[in-house]
Amino acid sequence: MSGLVGYPGPDPTLPARGAGPGTGQPVRLLPTRAHHTSGHDTGPPAAGTAPAASLRTGAWDPLVDAFGRLHDDLRISVTDRCNLRCIHCMPEGVVFRPRPELLQYEEIVRVAGVARRLGVRSVRITGGEPLVRRGVVDLVRRLASLGFDDLSLTTNGTLLGPLAGPLAGAGLHRVNISCDSLRPDRFAAIRRRGDLATVLAAMDSAEAAGLGPVKVNVVLLAGINDDEVEAFAAFARRTGRPVRFIEFMPLDAPGDWSRSQVVPSADVIERINRRWPLVAVANSDQSPAERYRFADSQGEVGVIASVTRPFCGTCNRLRLTADGALRNCLFARSERSVRDILRDGGDDEAIASAVRAAVMAKAAGHGIDEPGFLRPQRSMSMIGG
Ligand code: SAM
Ligand code: SF4
Repeated sequence: MSGLVGYPGPDPTLPARGAGPGTGQPVRLLPTRAHHTSGHDTGPPAAGTAPAASLRTGAWDPLVDAFGRLHDDLRISVTDRCNLRCIHCMPEGVVFRPRPELLQYEEIVRVAGVARRLGVRSVRITGGEPLVRRGVVDLVRRLASLGFDDLSLTTNGTLLGPLAGPLAGAGLHRVNISCDSLRPDRFAAIRRRGDLATVLAAMDSAEAAGLGPVKVNVVLLAGINDDEVEAFAAFARRTGRPVRFIEFMPLDAPGDWSRSQVVPSADVIERINRRWPLVAVANSDQSPAERYRFADSQGEVGVIASVTRPFCGTCNRLRLTADGALRNCLFARSERSVRDILRDGGDDEAIASAVRAAVMAKAAGHGIDEPGFLRPQRSMSMIGG
């Protein structure tokens, strides 16, 4: 690859299942970072003031797993339902969870409050499509009152336009909007419902409401939309919206995923770099995106190379599914029900124990490339992407 500044190349610390202590495989440990976790919910710390040493003391120690990875990011799925049926995610005729099985907002806020006290700093609301659930603005208000450093939402954008202002008013910081094609006919074919113009207008509404920077998620599917890499890069340059190209993961509900459908992120970056030279941008947080700015300073693109360059070694994420399961990985094959604890009258310490147990049970890596890899029972929309 010529001219690309800072492209990392093959990752020698690529974590795989079985990496870590006692396995001879390296696992990248987290750098020491400023964090807040006192025993009390005192709100976010002033930047750079959190004393790292004190994080390991007290009843509410931070969430560090067996491989030294600090967990401070929580994805909360509020529904498994959706108004679209994207081909890489959800089939027609999908059966949803009965509503009583979904966590009520009070229950979600309770778990989020415990997570906050355990050192979780950022929360992303997702689904299914989070905006199809009634009252989501109220949920955002209640989550915002817990004082997370970052409160964001991932949406397909179809219902966002009129909700952008209320969501921002309720305390949402920013949105990621999924958009897999810039061609109306292809958008319709991939997403099977909804239309491109509504989603593009929603990006404007989100920015006008102060929910920027609006990041645009693009799942690339070989032979379907991978000829739009340059078009999306041009879009990022024109609009200033960071575009994130996501590798297709074996989490589609129909189970049709095959490696041949994955568009390797390295190829994506190489193609863009050939047209518009790129410069790698250092990540200031644990974001899985490998980021690049255009050398002429006109915007940014990124790749999420979950399949070809897994970022498990620095993964800081926990997930709460809409029906109340705690998951330590998108690909985990086991999970813990926090809904049972909540509905059996469990106290906050019981919830915290479940969260800690989920973190401690996390594997070193998702193992997609391992011969014995088995995809999880849940698909993406039932987990929360
Ligand atoms: N409905 C919302 C949306 O589409 O943005 C939020 C939930 S969706 C599951 C979250 C993200 O996961 C979206 O960007 C979506 O395109 C992505 N996604 C869905 N299925 C995927 C798959 N099999 N592999 C990779 N990404 C996927
Ligand atoms: Fe719905 Fe998002 Fe899945 Fe598409 S990717 S079907 S919008 S949950």
